[in-house]
Amino acid sequence: MPQNTPPRPICGHCDGFPTVAITTGQSTADGQRQTITAHCPACLVTGHTTPARAHTRIGA
Ligand SMILES: [Zn+2]
Repeated sequence: MPQNTPPRPICGHCDGFPTVAITTGQSTADGQRQTITAHCPACLVTGHTTPARAHTRIGA
């Protein structure tokens, strides 16, 4: 079974959706829905987990 997509670690914090617009339920003066844009701080809005740092251990 060929794997078309390379394995990419999806951010477990935002599940791959680093930027989400949350509707507040209120409307702006323009009549538009007021939304709050939330950015995932865990993956720095990349949607993927940052490459794991090399496990540096001092000693055994
Ligand atoms: Zn994330």
